[in-house]
Amino acid sequence: MKHSLSLYQDFGPDPVACRETGHYQREYIEGFVNKWDELIDWESRAQSEGNFFINMLREHGARSVLDVATGTGFHSVRLIEAGFEVVSSDGSPEMLAKAFENARARGHILRTVQVDWRWLNRDIHDHYDAIICLGNSFTHLFSEHDRRKALAEFYATLKHDGLLILDQRNYDAILDVGYSGKHTYYYCGTHVSVSPEYVDEGLTRFRYTFPDHSTYHLNMYPLRKAYTRRLLQEVGFQQVDTYGDFQETYRDSEPDFFIHVAQKG
Ligand code: SAM
Repeated sequence: MKHSLSLYQDFGPDPVACRETGHYQREYIEGFVNKWDELIDWESRAQSEGNFFINMLREHGARSVLDVATGTGFHSVRLIEAGFEVVSSDGSPEMLAKAFENARARGHILRTVQVDWRWLNRDIHDHYDAIICLGNSFTHLFSEHDRRKALAEFYATLKHDGLLILDQRNYDAILDVGYSGKHTYYYCGTHVSVSPEYVDEGLTRFRYTFPDHSTYHLNMYPLRKAYTRRLLQEVGFQQVDTYGDFQETYRDSEPDFFIHVAQKG
């Protein structure tokens, strides 16, 4: 699978004014997609999250899983290897191509569907025991309308007792502690630094710096934890449990990531 890809990210003349849901398509360009695996470092990522997602899915008796933010395929491959039936979707053809390649290198054929969350049901007609939306993906949505639409599509794609697992960075800490140039967040890959370069209530612009000094950016909407939980409940999920860095109990300012586990039935 080859796609024509641009070499440079384009956020326009004023990058912090770029607050558009569909822009993710232009953020995951070839150089960045190829760097992504270096960034997320599969082995250390597997170690740091352990069997959290696998155990959670098994506890709920899930067998079929839709990975709606496949990215380069890390969770899809882990879940296939753990025995789940996985369908891998993403709105970015570049990401799906990379995921397919990564899976094939590990002896798996990914079942991929290119689809944007906002119109998921147009192309995904089956119902799943679980949906995963991981790696701080949901924060690519910039309007409340898009967030509600995406969650409603996820909800409709789940079986009556299905489970949605969706994670996000701890934006409350980023927004409330404020941005300090010294504050760097590391995301598994040991040689890659991720830091919020610009923060306000409507945007967090992250900078990813790689060992070869190449830098890329992602513009994300800073979701507050309570707000995400409220949206999940308002869309119809009956129970929402939120974990902090894979732990049930935590002080709100501490975790780097929150993981919401939302039950439909
Ligand atoms: N889950 C992967 C991981 O943890 O490594 C990828 C995370 S990456 C930060 C976010 C992914 O979400 C990208 O692959 C991007 O293409 C996808 N994405 C963002 N907005 C989307 C949308 N509206 N519809 C479908 N996919 C979207």
